[in-house]
Amino acid sequence: MRILIIGPQGSGKGTQSKLISEKYKLPHISTGDIFRDALLRKTELGIKSDSFIKKGQLVHDDIVTNLVKERVRQKDCREGFVLDGYPRNINQARALDKITNLDKVFVLKISDDIAIKRLTLRRQCNKCKTIYSYTSLKKKGICSKCKGKLIQRNDDKSTAIKKRLDIYHKETEPLIDYYKKKGIVHIISGNQLVGKIAFEIDSFLQKEKDILEL
Ligand SMILES: [Zn+2]
Repeated sequence: MRILIIGPQGSGKGTQSKLISEKYKLPHISTGDIFRDALLRKTELGIKSDSFIKKGQLVHDDIVTNLVKERVRQKDCREGFVLDGYPRNINQARALDKITNLDKVFVLKISDDIAIKRLTLRRQCNKCKTIYSYTSLKKKGICSKCKGKLIQRNDDKSTAIKKRLDIYHKETEPLIDYYKKKGIVHIISGNQLVGKIAFEIDSFLQKEKDILEL
């Protein structure tokens, strides 16, 4: 099962990808992890992508595509994978079509207001860099792992968030129609609680699995 999850930041896309990956034993492929891994291995693509990230720019489509290609061709992806953060525009989706075919695309729809509210509530530990989402912020202002101070990242200030949401609407949202034409889109309300979203995705995948096993 080759799954893609699309949603703006704050929709819970990363969390849901992890949950599906654990339950169905499929590797979770996030572009963030791919970049970090390639940089650790000091590959040419890793070093190139890092130079974009350091400047706060998006990594060029062809570089990301090559990194994703390397990743999905690894052994652990034979049974499928959960893609998170790629493709993020039509150009990348077309490139991905040449590498592999997706089976299912889940779209987490969320209003801009809720995304902004959730993201501005997000905090990061200034020591161990753990990120606390709006739901996991229990102890006010203190990291539960290292007791470091929780601060707001510049990325999570409302002007930066609005800019990212604009890019999402302009570049990523057209993917929904792109995959609708292939008949593999399933839209879910991301305004719901994490558990409810997970339940909806899971019941859908279970149904698909039952059909396949019949
Ligand atoms: Zn910490």
